[in-house]
Amino acid sequence: MKRPEPKCPIRLGESCSLCYPGASGPEDCGLVWLVREDPELMEQLNELRREQQAETRARKDAAHSVATSAH
Ligand code: SF4
Repeated sequence: MKRPEPKCPIRLGESCSLCYPGASGPEDCGLVWLVREDPELMEQLNELRREQQAETRARKDAAHSVATSAH
């Protein structure tokens, strides 16, 4: 069975592509570590996450109203 691909915590919505030298996944990625250690970068990342979640919610709501108005 294929293992699920780990998601990159920084490149939101993308799978880990092992872009950081020496990383074998998000768990030992130096870039993830650097971002987590920097409060300003963490805040920016959290802001991006909130925006992405709001977009996803808006898209779901729009799809739901299209589906329910078709009846
Ligand atoms: S190596 Fe690190 S920065 Fe690159 S995709 Fe994977 S988790 Fe993200």
